[in-house]
Amino acid sequence: MLTVEAALSRILAAAPAPRREAVAVTDALGLHLSGPVLATMDLPPWANSAMDGFAVRAADTPGRLVVLETIAAGAVPRATVGAGTASRIMTGAPIPPGADAVVMIEDCTTEGDQVQVPGARPGQHVRARGSDVRAGAEVLAAGRRLGPGALGLWASFGHTQIAVYARPRGAVISTGDEVVQPGTALGPGHIYSSNNVTLAALVAEAGGVPVDLGNCLDDPAALHARFTDAARCADLVVSTGGVSVGDFDHVKDVLGAVDFWRVAMKPGKPLAFGRFGDRPFFGLPGNPVSCMVNFLQFVRPVVRTMLGDPSPFLPVVSATLTRPVRRAPGRVEFLRVRLSRDAAGTLWASPTGGHQGSGNVAGMADAHGFALLDATRTEVSGDVSVQVFDGAYDARESAGYTWGTQPDADPRRCC
Ligand code: AMP
Ligand code: MG
Repeated sequence: MLTVEAALSRILAAAPAPRREAVAVTDALGLHLSGPVLATMDLPPWANSAMDGFAVRAADTPGRLVVLETIAAGAVPRATVGAGTASRIMTGAPIPPGADAVVMIEDCTTEGDQVQVPGARPGQHVRARGSDVRAGAEVLAAGRRLGPGALGLWASFGHTQIAVYARPRGAVISTGDEVVQPGTALGPGHIYSSNNVTLAALVAEAGGVPVDLGNCLDDPAALHARFTDAARCADLVVSTGGVSVGDFDHVKDVLGAVDFWRVAMKPGKPLAFGRFGDRPFFGLPGNPVSCMVNFLQFVRPVVRTMLGDPSPFLPVVSATLTRPVRRAPGRVEFLRVRLSRDAAGTLWASPTGGHQGSGNVAGMADAHGFALLDATRTEVSGDVSVQVFDGAYDARESAGYTWGTQPDADPRRCC
């Protein structure tokens, strides 16, 4: 049996190289840049006013000046500001020729066609051309994850497309004669597939594009046909069920090129990893909890790597178990836990569900993460590392930060 670490490093070594593509800036949130981004023009592209006020020659201030015109944002100045003159100017409007400073409207007194202005220094309230960004400068590094600010910066240069690593397409197939899809009638001996829905959501949450190919019967020819479809339409294929030693577990045989199929972990021991055609293929166990644990340990890091994420693993926090856990040693265990922080600041990890069986979907739904239990220990208590997989668990909570806990944090006091 392989350790989790050994399995993961073999899987990552076989991960396909990220695919590069240009996508609409509006679809690029959360994606990673496939190359460095260089400024394609100066920002701002021309000197403009940072204030509503009067554009002046600093040397003429303080003083009474003749107002030449009003320059709105979007307008082009008509007059040159010469000795003894000024132009009324709005925020974002181009600085007129001759002017080298702006005085705020609040500090000026207008009398007819003249204005009394206070003293100004050259450059005051003027946003010089290129003062924010110089054309040709590297503004975003290759591999950088694109957030709203980075996307806005790229849009500031007028671009609508951006070069990123593509979202990998992940095909999802459940297997089993007993498995039917939700929304259909449940016959005798049948169960509804939870795994199609969970796996598709996991692919999407990891940043990939899920392609749900439904359920396939435990029949080698049918499995081969479905895997062929999957390899055609996706970058990686994830199946669930049929990878163990049962009479109807055909996935490994159909796959042929299986790298290994047992990993020393609980839950989720049977895992077939290999290739189907030229696509990476993950044959995950059918038990819903094992299926999800395996996806998060082995498939998610591949999806994140293909997205160009330099840190493709789940975040890990330190927490204290609410009660000791007794267990059989031998395999590393992924214990489903809910996290909560008490008033004293301790982060607690409480095991979810009545029992931690690999089919316990209720406990899985309640969990924020996996407490990682060492393979050698029979009883675990106190501090544990918890892999956090539920985006609903607010990371700010774990940092002890919430609105209202800081004196200036009340949003009503911001404005
Ligand atoms: P298997 O890995 O095929 O031996 O299945 C192990 C267990 O998981 C069995 O109890 C199956 O009925 C169940 N199972 C298999 N596929 C699914 C699925 N798509 N959704 C929910 N449970 C499943
Ligand atoms: Mg089965």
